[in-house]
Amino acid sequence: MFLTFKYYCPKCRVLLNKSQYVELLVFAEEDCITKIRFNPKPGAYDYTCDPPIEFDKGRKLNFHCTDCKTDLQSPQFPDFASIIMKPSEQISFEVLFDRTAGQHATYVMTEDMVERDASHPQDLL
Ligand SMILES: [Zn+2]
Repeated sequence: MFLTFKYYCPKCRVLLNKSQYVELLVFAEEDCITKIRFNPKPGAYDYTCDPPIEFDKGRKLNFHCTDCKTDLQSPQFPDFASIIMKPSEQISFEVLFDRTAGQHATYVMTEDMVERDASHPQDLL
């Protein structure tokens, strides 16, 4: 396992970690509705929202970079958001996570490997 989990915006490459959390914006249509902070450890699903907000279960959330405000929706897998994880300078992974509220799934992607860590049986590939 990796000792540090650092995540970057795929567009502007800004570091998305803020102290012990990863911070992203959640948009509804054109408006930012809250800032979400979640545990950077893959497989951990605790998060907080500022301002606090209850997401309707099953709702698709739009995650955006806190810096360049880019929509992080994966072009390849539209139901997922995509960010970059770099365990070291030379290695980077694409990390996909489900945009559906209440759906706990993280997929770590590399060029020829897909490592699954999901709490629901839905198949991605
Ligand atoms: Zn960005």
